[in-house]
Amino acid sequence: MPFSFPRRWPVRQLIAASSFFILVACAEQPTAAVATPLQSASAPQASKNVPAASNAVAQPDDNNFEIQPAMSFSEWQSMFRAQALSAGIRPEVFDNAFAGVTPDMSVVKADRSQPEFTRPVWEYLDSAMSAVRVRKGQALLAQYADALTAIEQRYGVDRQALVAVWGMESSFGQFQGTQSVIRSLATLAYEGRRPQFAQDQLIAALQIIQHGDIDAPSMLGSWAGAMGQTQFIPTTYNTHAVDFDGDGRRDIWNSPTDALASTAHYLQSSGWQKGQPWGFEVQLNPGFDYALADASTRKTIAEWQQMGLKLANGSTLPAYLQQQQAALLLPAGYKGPAFLVMDNFRAILKYNNSSSYALGVSLLSERFSGGGYVTGNWPRGDRPLSRSERIELQTLLSARQYDAGAPDGIIGANTRKAIRSAQQSFGWPADGYPTQELLNQLRGQ
Ligand code: CA
Repeated sequence: MPFSFPRRWPVRQLIAASSFFILVACAEQPTAAVATPLQSASAPQASKNVPAASNAVAQPDDNNFEIQPAMSFSEWQSMFRAQALSAGIRPEVFDNAFAGVTPDMSVVKADRSQPEFTRPVWEYLDSAMSAVRVRKGQALLAQYADALTAIEQRYGVDRQALVAVWGMESSFGQFQGTQSVIRSLATLAYEGRRPQFAQDQLIAALQIIQHGDIDAPSMLGSWAGAMGQTQFIPTTYNTHAVDFDGDGRRDIWNSPTDALASTAHYLQSSGWQKGQPWGFEVQLNPGFDYALADASTRKTIAEWQQMGLKLANGSTLPAYLQQQQAALLLPAGYKGPAFLVMDNFRAILKYNNSSSYALGVSLLSERFSGGGYVTGNWPRGDRPLSRSERIELQTLLSARQYDAGAPDGIIGANTRKAIRSAQQSFGWPADGYPTQELLNQLRGQ
């Protein structure tokens, strides 16, 4: 789950927080993929969530695992207790939740790790749509058919998409994370890297406990505080978790019905369009201008059709969608498959701001009924750039007057733009996709 952040966040904090989310593994961690974010970290407000299966994009910051807090943990706890109480947390709720809590160094380490290598998107998708996951999802669609019917009626989000998110986030509840959410968030709030974010989450977590949805020892999640079968962070839980099975508790840990309905509520709030597809694979004409493949370039399906796009099987684009907006996604650059992605794809990105993740959810949702196969060929011989190589690429681009922004190893909007400019100067397809070929070309100059 990356995603998006409140606009009030200062830029530096935003950068730190974005890499934080991008790195957060969901409990399952199958699926770190190549960096192909469709939206930049500075995108919209409101985020659900930490990335489940996101791109393992590197962090911008130091690699220093020493923590140098300005005060002792107990001093911090006293100070934070006063804040929590002034936010309406009852003293006994706070004291019970914090009984025996100490900082967790494994959380600090996870927070600061910077993966050097990422998996290519095709490997990520293979894993996202494993035969085991597809079979299990099909069985759960049958098992929870009645609840899913009621959830679809209430929120207008298709059941296949809900079950696909469930599979991607926690392998249908099997991997929810085993760490104490209070302890993890207290550690992140104390060690000072993202104190405001962690404190806000911690207050939200205490509100959940005070509300009686769950007790502190049972409130488990990932090291970054993503909880339960939906992997919601506490603030998202407070705005979007629902009690759909009617037992009085919003139980995303133990109740699949509550988890599925909470996911539906989140997707509905993120702009889900009932009855529409996420998008579809397309064919491009020879000579197509690949610079148009950008999340910020949205056109109607009718306009894309006029530019020669067809469905992957060669037929014309769906007539009933002609007036809908879509962006062209090339997850592996011009050499790989192409997709037109619509509003529901964007809603999935709000769950986890990674185009690999959103494509995984989208294709998996179709695979449950035998679809979701990609026709185009992935460039399986290509190796994604490592973190060091991405930093080198950014440095070389900026040295050639193509401003790639801070050399942080994150391929965001600025870097993509710089890559396109360099590609155009070489007379190459300007897909904005970082490759070994481009790095070698820049090295040779
Ligand atoms: Ca419930």
